[in-house]
Amino acid sequence: MVLATHTKPATTDFGAAVALSCRECGTRYDLGPDFACIECFGPLEVAYEFGPVSREQIEAGPTSVWRYRALLPVPADVADKPNLAPGWTKLVRADRLAAELGLRSLHIKDDSGNPTHSFKDRVVAIAVEAARNFGFHTLSCSSTGNLAGAVTAAAARAGLDACVFIPADLEQAKVVMGSVYGGRLVGIEGTYDEVNRFCSELIGDPLGDKWGFVNVNLRPYYAEGSKTLAYEIAEQLGWRLPEQIVIPIASGSQLTKIDKGFAELIKLGLVEDRPYKVIGAQAAGCAPVATAFRAGHDVIKPVKPDTIAKSLAIGNPADAPYVLDIVRRTGGVVEDVTDDQIVDAIRLLARTEGIFAETAGGVTVGVLTKLAREGRLDPEAETVVLNTGDGLKTLDAVAAHARPSAVIRPSLDAFRATVAE
Ligand SMILES: *Cc1c(COP(=O)(O)O)cnc(C)c1O
Ligand SMILES: [Zn+2]
Repeated sequence: MVLATHTKPATTDFGAAVALSCRECGTRYDLGPDFACIECFGPLEVAYEFGPVSREQIEAGPTSVWRYRALLPVPADVADKPNLAPGWTKLVRADRLAAELGLRSLHIKDDSGNPTHSFKDRVVAIAVEAARNFGFHTLSCSSTGNLAGAVTAAAARAGLDACVFIPADLEQAKVVMGSVYGGRLVGIEGTYDEVNRFCSELIGDPLGDKWGFVNVNLRPYYAEGSKTLAYEIAEQLGWRLPEQIVIPIASGSQLTKIDKGFAELIKLGLVEDRPYKVIGAQAAGCAPVATAFRAGHDVIKPVKPDTIAKSLAIGNPADAPYVLDIVRRTGGVVEDVTDDQIVDAIRLLARTEGIFAETAGGVTVGVLTKLAREGRLDPEAETVVLNTGDGLKTLDAVAAHARPSAVIRPSLDAFRATVAE
């Protein structure tokens, strides 16, 4: 085992996690704030030695991601610490949308119900525990929008400082949410990929080398948070894996960790092993993974994003090769939808199920709709589609289509006149 180069505080507790392991060459490292293999530069991920875990034990836990603490790199008493306890969001049966698309069984996993209204609270919750373990007092990140709010809110609750970085041209709601919880929010004149590169530089500088960047030096821990989506979906289906699942792709981390979560449930005997298809969803204005999938390539060509789905606008997604592997191995696809199709899908979901999704949800529901209408989905399969954020975060996307049908004087005559029109 290679020794970590960082000094850890005396008491660290990562639960059943025992090491970091290189995804490419398998070299193992001590659990530390490290993210890349010294041997081959491959990404590091958390490795475990799980004890026995039962359905009953999980079901008796809190109604948050902490019910799965035995499967995460966190201490056993994590639920007692000050944190936002995200997760255990609704899995909504979507019969009306299913009927519209000709599908037999459809559920929406609605992560807009998290504390800062996106899926990012899950990953940040795990990163905060890692930051505590490593003795970091400042949390940081490069963000496409949702992460900035999730980090500053979690830092506020945990009593940590925060300094987060976003592209300067984000939606107003995301700027406000990145700022209102305190800490420092810095807008960078550039794309997300440029913000991310800037953060990699900052981490090597005395200004930032003592900070916990949730998606850089804490990334192996952060990424584990996405597994909770897999656990929750399986438990909420009655301890069963879905047969088809539609997942949005930004960096691709969420998709790869949902697959890891399903694999762990099978290995631990918590669900029956049955085949599932992983379907990746991107916006056409930032679709490097969908493009590589269609071309039969194993690696992507970076793009410059231009889409209303800003939370997914990563032009050079780090986990793309693993996403392509998983999608091909499971018999799924990666598909993309235009901005107009994203808006149509947001409106379709809202009018059929009463769920108002952010543009990322428009991307997944849009891809679901496109595949269903083109006959490329199994209509009989148990299908789950993710909504990863709240529509209130991206109001501008639909504002032109969602206006009062009339503005009138408060009189019955005036109303009668508009009804007659
Ligand atoms: C960050 C994010 C995702 C997924 O991101 P990955 O980098 O692929 O893990 C999906 N939806 C929303 C709304 C997000 O903010
Ligand atoms: Zn390696």
